[in-house]
Amino acid sequence: MMKILLPTSTAGSLPKPSWLAEPEKLWSPWKLAGEELLDAKQDALRLSLQEQQYAGIDIVSDGEQTRQHFVTTFIEHLEGVDFEHRETVRIRNRYDASVPTVVGDVARKQPVFVEDAKFLRSQTQQPIKWALPGPMTMIDTLYDGHYKSREKLAWEFAKILNQEAKELEAAGVDIIQFDEPAFNVFFDEVNDWGVATLERAIEGLKCETAVHICYGYGIKANTDWKKTLGSEWRQYEEAFPKLQQSKIDIVSLECQNSRVPMDLIELIRGKKVMVGAIDVASHTVETAEEVANTLRKALQFVDADKLYPSTNCGMAPLPRQVARGKLKALSDGAAIIRQELTA
Ligand SMILES: [Zn+2]
Repeated sequence: MMKILLPTSTAGSLPKPSWLAEPEKLWSPWKLAGEELLDAKQDALRLSLQEQQYAGIDIVSDGEQTRQHFVTTFIEHLEGVDFEHRETVRIRNRYDASVPTVVGDVARKQPVFVEDAKFLRSQTQQPIKWALPGPMTMIDTLYDGHYKSREKLAWEFAKILNQEAKELEAAGVDIIQFDEPAFNVFFDEVNDWGVATLERAIEGLKCETAVHICYGYGIKANTDWKKTLGSEWRQYEEAFPKLQQSKIDIVSLECQNSRVPMDLIELIRGKKVMVGAIDVASHTVETAEEVANTLRKALQFVDADKLYPSTNCGMAPLPRQVARGKLKALSDGAAIIRQELTA
């Protein structure tokens, strides 16, 4: 699909303007309502697209401007989940959160992001990528009082995600990405049914598909957790062999300033790799040369035509100015390597 070498993209979310939602915050409440909110979300999406284009990003996204949270917003649109009746659960074994309850059969009564994707499609000729939560990460954000089986609920969500993904594909989305940070935590489940449910979610798709596996946003709960992981982060080692054999086209992972040994990428040889070359947990903007260095290291383990420079995770919690600088650094860093490769 991509003719350009080392096409750049982001993992997903970008900061929202302060007139839309409180900045530098996850689950930030909207500042507008009704018709005004719908218009404002579209305006923000246009701005977010423009900032990516201005920075020279090749595969663009909506910057997740129309959603409050990458998992919750999708689930809010489904039947069978009660958002009033909440229970406290431990998210990814890391922190307690009050979450909605599954009270009946889950179903998608209407498209969730399809109109937003059509709008993005109408705004640009560039390839577009759309992010959805993965089945395992979805179940980890809920209390299940109905199926009483994580696996069963994951299969139900996979079916729903597949319905949404097919409509996103029809709307002209080029890459559909599933966010599965839970793959870095529940290793046995990933291998027992996590990758299988992900493959159910992409069944029958002709567009490209990606899975994004990261160590989370740069929020305190995540940075505290990272401190407990030791000098080498080998979590990817658990899921990569199974992913290498899966039908997923692209694996998006965290590399910049992380303690992930780069040679783990060898385990997904043959897949396209979205290499996180931008740290989202720091306000320091990378230099183009720092980005280039990370990409150079990755090139030891992934062929140049399969390397997609990207960010470690979403940038929603960052100040807008910082995110702009990081987009530009990503683009400039990729340009350095592109030149080296074609020289
Ligand atoms: Zn992420």
